[in-house]
Amino acid sequence: MNKKHIAGKEHMQRINYLYQASNLMIKKNLLSTHYCNLALNVAKKTVQRLDISIKRTICKGCHNLLICGVNAKARIRKKHLQIVCFQCNTGKKYNLKNYQPIWTETLEAQVEQINY
Ligand SMILES: [Zn+2]
Repeated sequence: MNKKHIAGKEHMQRINYLYQASNLMIKKNLLSTHYCNLALNVAKKTVQRLDISIKRTICKGCHNLLICGVNAKARIRKKHLQIVCFQCNTGKKYNLKNYQPIWTETLEAQVEQINY
């Protein structure tokens, strides 16, 4: 009986499932945009923030999953990294001068592992 109550656990699980399904479908070019759109809608409806690692890989224009070399290209310009979607030509820019790695990918972000 060491289960903790986590707010919005089911919604986070659904977002994670939809993101993984979108990753699988990107190679077949089927339903990937639809799954990403559903994940964004679940996050919006339940007022939950997407993890930044997920948010950085979803196109703002067409809500497609951005994978460099498959359906997006990444270029390093003078001071920023630019990722452009092939489907809608929408670009994202990340400043390289003040670039900080995603905190959730560092070791200090892991406090404990929760088993459901
Ligand atoms: Zn796009």
